[in-house]
Amino acid sequence: MDPERARAALEEKRAAAVERLRGLDASFADIVEAARDSNLDDEHDIEGTTIAVDRAQVSSLAAAGRQQLVEIDAALARLEAGEYGICLRCGQPIEEGRLEARPATPWCISCARAETSRR
Ligand SMILES: [Zn+2]
Repeated sequence: MDPERARAALEEKRAAAVERLRGLDASFADIVEAARDSNLDDEHDIEGTTIAVDRAQVSSLAAAGRQQLVEIDAALARLEAGEYGICLRCGQPIEEGRLEARPATPWCISCARAETSRR
């Protein structure tokens, strides 16, 4: 993929990820606020349980978002180094269509498959 287009796609992805994380931060603050307002003395407080679940969901979404940012930044660094679009695992060029769909991916299709099945 043409480096300028790759950069634009990555920048766009990055901005969207930052925006999403900002939104999650805001909802995390809301949840913490709601937790403070709820009655903490009542162990059977249904709302308290819901808050704990919300909190866990928001933090796992935030963790995924931060992971995504790390991948995007790594892809931007590879772009700077002139190594963008090369699979980190096998050193072969990553399929064009795959880069279109996932500009930050560090792996070609077959290596991505191998990585996912390993987990
Ligand atoms: Zn590969």
